[in-house]
Amino acid sequence: MAKKLIILGGGESGIGAALLGKKEGFEVFVSDFGKIKTKYKDVLINNAIEWEEGGHSESRILTADAVVKSPGIPDKAPLIVSLKAEGIPVISEIEFASRYTKANLIAITGSNGKTTTTSMVAHILKVAGLKSIAAGNIGDSFARGVAEKDIENYVLEISSFQLDGIVDFAPHIAIITNITPDHLDRYEYKFENYIASKFRIAMNQTESDYLIYDADDTVITDWLEKHPVKARLLPFSVLKKVKEGAYLANDKIIIEIDNNQLTMSTANLSMKGVHNTKNAMAAATASRLLSIRKATIRESLEGFQGVEHRLEQVLKINNVSYINDSKATNVNATFYALDSMTAPTVWIVGGTDKGNDYKDLFPLVNEKVKAIICLGVDNRKLMDTFSNMVDVIIETQSVVEATKIAYKLANKGENVLLSPACASFDLFENYEDRGRQFKEAVRNL
Ligand code: ADP
Repeated sequence: MAKKLIILGGGESGIGAALLGKKEGFEVFVSDFGKIKTKYKDVLINNAIEWEEGGHSESRILTADAVVKSPGIPDKAPLIVSLKAEGIPVISEIEFASRYTKANLIAITGSNGKTTTTSMVAHILKVAGLKSIAAGNIGDSFARGVAEKDIENYVLEISSFQLDGIVDFAPHIAIITNITPDHLDRYEYKFENYIASKFRIAMNQTESDYLIYDADDTVITDWLEKHPVKARLLPFSVLKKVKEGAYLANDKIIIEIDNNQLTMSTANLSMKGVHNTKNAMAAATASRLLSIRKATIRESLEGFQGVEHRLEQVLKINNVSYINDSKATNVNATFYALDSMTAPTVWIVGGTDKGNDYKDLFPLVNEKVKAIICLGVDNRKLMDTFSNMVDVIIETQSVVEATKIAYKLANKGENVLLSPACASFDLFENYEDRGRQFKEAVRNL
């Protein structure tokens, strides 16, 4: 009899797992507590996969041989607790997908920079002519890729929630971009739990695998000291020379692996800012491990176009640059955005505060920000924090109003930067919606 695979959550990862499960001969049932998007229902119907929405049929689900859980469902959810009590394995979609492919896996996690770094690696591999795709939290799910395509290299963007559900998943190359507190509500408000979750990316790696990481991030280096991994370590740093890995010397990136050197001028990188230099270091190091030619890596990183909503240049109006960094949903991301500003900046900030501590931003705000426009339902904390740091601080509750005020405040040669440091759920559907509305408002100026 076919084994029963139950998939909880009918989003991109759930649908991918369903398609792969069907292909691999499982009897598949998809169950979603909320609504399944029409485009996904169509896929299920076309593939004759059973599904339900608006609730879980618990008794049926408890007969599963295996369960693939959407990363959005916390382990504390009663149904998950019951499944585990019954001894039914609950895994994540990347774990499931990895069991059915022999492809080379390059997996990228971290608190910030995952999408950018994943896109950079995927771009380099594409230019190099390798059969590869970016998947995971970006584009199609990994499982859908495995079900539908014949791919030799997967570049996977992976969240800590996906890593929580792995058992044997073992990428050949893993990257941890950085670790700063985020999503702590899912980790009992303990930062160590979240760090441990990120490091699961390396837990099944062997001596023939690689872990690339930010050596300037003491959270990472302290953890590695106490919890050694088997993979070969290739750190990157913008502050110090490393023996093997990537570092900076005279504004050049040097990548050193097995006595072989790649050098690349930071001035030629298409993506500006220290954080993007770090992302480029990680991406280039991974690419060297795949034996991609140095010239190809250089060219790719010079031509990389960036990703929407990440320090995205929208328009120049009257020689003022409008920059959309809507994806900056935490203080660390905004830190790097402000850090990369080279002219006085009108900063649009605000949204749903996740318990932010803005202290790290103070020196940058003093140095670079000429005016602050608060955009959110509740701007009190921002007003209290920054009022005595800038001459102009204004409250708004619409992106159109915020953009119009920014237009009035910014002079020739200056920047208008939307980098909210907050989640977007007060005034917008999500960060993409916020970014798009901002771009639209800029275009209508
Ligand atoms: P993620 O996928 O991890 O959320 P993104 O690449 O989408 O990361 O970038 C999220 C935000 O973080 C953007 O505002 C971006 O400019 C900023 N960012 C990108 N790379 C880094 C990095 N290495 N360190 C800190 N912030 C970064």
